[in-house]
Formats: sequence, structure tokens, C-alpha cells
Amino acid sequence: MLSAVDIHRRILSREVTSEEVAREHLERIRELDSRLNAFLEVTGELALDAAREVDRRLARGEELGPLAGVPVAVKDNISVPGAGATCASRILKGYKPIYGATVHERMSAAGLPCLGKTNMDEFAMGSSTEHSAFGPTSNPWDLERVPGGSSGGSAAAVAAGMAPLALGSDTGGSVRQPAALCGIVGLKPTYGAVSRYGLIAFASSLDQIGPMARTARDCALLFDIIRGRDARDSTSVEYPGRAATADLESNLDGLRIGVPEEMMGEGIESETRASVEAAVRRLEGLGARVGVARLPHLKYAIATYYVVACAEASSNLARYDGIRYGHRTARDQDLASLFTHTRGEGFNPEVKRRIILGTYVLSSGYYDAYYAKAQKVRTLIRQDFSQAYADFDVLAGPVSPTPAFRKGEKSEDPLAMYLADICTLSANLAGIPALSLPCGFSARGLPVGLQLMGRPFSESVLFNVAHRLEGELALGGRHPGL
Ligand code: GLN
Repeated sequence: MLSAVDIHRRILSREVTSEEVAREHLERIRELDSRLNAFLEVTGELALDAAREVDRRLARGEELGPLAGVPVAVKDNISVPGAGATCASRILKGYKPIYGATVHERMSAAGLPCLGKTNMDEFAMGSSTEHSAFGPTSNPWDLERVPGGSSGGSAAAVAAGMAPLALGSDTGGSVRQPAALCGIVGLKPTYGAVSRYGLIAFASSLDQIGPMARTARDCALLFDIIRGRDARDSTSVEYPGRAATADLESNLDGLRIGVPEEMMGEGIESETRASVEAAVRRLEGLGARVGVARLPHLKYAIATYYVVACAEASSNLARYDGIRYGHRTARDQDLASLFTHTRGEGFNPEVKRRIILGTYVLSSGYYDAYYAKAQKVRTLIRQDFSQAYADFDVLAGPVSPTPAFRKGEKSEDPLAMYLADICTLSANLAGIPALSLPCGFSARGLPVGLQLMGRPFSESVLFNVAHRLEGELALGGRHPGL
């Protein structure tokens, strides 16, 4: 499978047109997606139109950016003009956004066609893509297993070669964990690095849109296209860091890498721990200085996250009332029954559970005990990271406690599913950037991911480490045997 950079080079040298590249990928989707269910909608015409436009710009001799002509799969909670945006929920079935997301605007301006909208856990709540109203996505490495979630469709599409690049969203791990379980690279950017305008909100103090790709370089290039301030998202900033690709080739001499003790203990499967330890030793071999980091409040991350995220979700999801968008019940007798039946019919049990939990922790009498307290613990978790970054430039650990699990294994047990996020949630609570890259395979041939976490806006450092390790491990030749 070619990298996005190689595909772009072939387009520039006229070996292939952007239109042909889009057609090849659409063909591959047609061939494979009945088995994977990674796409909720394939936007063939949009993709071909955009690709032909790139070909025309090239023919006119225009200078095009480093990924021009390379198509992207987009998670179905990101608005693309001309396509639906269901968030994999019945409540948004048939909804067509009337504007596009800023990330889509930026990728279009850079000449990246959109291939389609990818499957996900409903409203991005989940870690397996089994909570989609439109059926689960399968893991390309083992069709009986989950691809991770909630951006499981995006990850499966990239791993299976149906798309060279994808966009996902990450509120508590939804880019990194599916990237790890599907053996690709994914970034959860620093909070504020990427505009969320046009992203359907889940938990606004945690949500970030992130790039996914088969190589660190491709992922960095896509990040550089989508990041930066946008007047339409007041939390987005003028990116103060270096270009993500600026330091790719730098050597790692003297770079201080900390392995958080709390991420390597109980609950982390031994094969995963061994892969992560081996990868860290390789980084040491490349010149990094490795030590043990401490994040003493990490043990509260799951509880804190599920209070904060559900509180924000209960507020964000109040807008689905059957009046303005999407599904509307046929059983409305009065306003209250319109709301109740629309929401009762439209949301899945996991989304309802979170709305109920979130409403509860915000209610008068419980607010201080749950929501206000969670905010305080969030500050402690954030401080743990700032203290760790006094001693280390990068923190390294697992992404997921286990490789891809079987479909059905955790879907009836919300707590077991929540535990899948134990290593990823804290980066969202702290607002720091975190990247997932493949670091090995389990005995059954399932990919294992390494997580690299950095200081705010130090994405270029994470991509540097990822790129060097990728070169060292040389796992790139291994693809799912579909
Ligand atoms: N799995 C976590 C959850 O269920 C994170 C989801 C996400 O990042 N969108 O909330």
C-alpha cells in the first residue's frame, strides 16, 4: 500500500491522475466494505468532482500542497457539504448539514477529496464502533474483532487501504485507540489546535478532530493542513508550535522520555506491556534518555472523565428535540410527548445512559459532589502532566490495555468498555497532544499501539519520535490479509 506522500508524488509526476486515484479507492471500498462496514455513506460523485478539479489545477501549472489529490475518509460527525452527518444515530438519519466543517474547508482548499463518511459509535460514545445504529465495523486484521472506537470506521478504512487518510474525533481516545487496534497512526491534537466548527459536539471541553494515516509523515502533513485559528471556533488558536513535519528527521539524542508507571501496571495485558517496553528500548537505542514518570492522579481519570464528558454531553445533546433536525416521532400528542418519544426512539441505550448520568451530576444538590469535584480532580491531573514535563519531553505508554477484542465481548458491560480508555482519557482532560503509532503485533497477529504524549503544541516532537521509531521498527510492510 502506498503512503499518501507517494500517491501525491505519482500524481505530480503524471503517472496517475487524482481522478484515477479516487476511482481506485472507490473501487476498493465497493470490493471490501460489505465485509467491513466502515462507511455509512460513500460520496463518489463529490470525490470525483474534487479530484478532477485537482487535475485541472495541476494542468494549469498551479502549485499544490504536499497531499493534493490524495483522498480522505471523514468521520460521520464532521459536516461535509452535500453529504449526510448521522453521528451513526437514528436521531440524525436523513439530516443534511447546511454548512461544512472548517477542517473540510481546509482539506478541500488543499486539494484533498472526500471519499465518504465513516462509521462510529453513536455520537462518538464508545470504544468499539459496536454502538452504531447502522451496524458494527469489523477490524480488518480479524473480522470477528472490533476496530476500536469511536472512530472505528475511519481507522478500518485506512488500515484496509480503502482510504490513504482519514479524519476522526477524539474526546477520550477515539482517534488513538482505533488507530492502535487497526495498526495505523493517529493524533489527538492539543486542545485548541484544530477548529471544531462543523464537528457535532459531544463534550466540548474535550473534543478535538484528529488526523489518521498509515505513516507518521502522512499524519503530520494532514495535521498541518487542518490546524490553526478559526474565527468560528473561539477555542481555536493561532498554532504557536512548529510545523508538524519540521522535526521529522531530527535525531533523538538526549530527548528525555518518561514512561508513566501508572500506565504500565495492573490491567495492561502482558503482551501489550512487552511491546511497549521493547519500543521504548528501541527509542533508547536511538539516543533518547528513558526514565520512570509519575502521574499520581491518573487513577481518577476514568471517574473524572465520565462525570465531565457526560455532563457536557447532556447539555450538547439537548438540541435533538424533533423540531429542528433529524428524526421526529409520529407519536406526539403534546410538546412533552414530542420530546420524550423523539428522544426515546432516536438515541441508543449508551447515549441515554450518558444523558441521564450527565443530567444527574449537574443537578442541584449533586453538582458540588460530582461535577465541581470532577473539575478539581481534572486540575490535579493536568498538574501531574505539567510536573512530569519538567523532567521529560515526551511520555510514552500503551494506548489500549489490550489489542482488539472480540465483538460482543464488552458491549453488554459499560464498565468493561470504559476501562478500554484508561490510558487515553487523561490527555483530553489535560488538553495535551497525544499520538498513537503501531509498535508491534500480538501472538495472534493483532497490532499493538504505542502512545506518545507531549507538552501543549509539541506535535512536531511527537511526530519526530514516531517517524524515527517507525523507521527503526519497519512494520510498514505488514498489512491485513483481506
Ligand atoms: N471511548 C470514550 C467514550 O466512550 C471516548 C470516546 C471519544 O473519544 N469520542 O467516551
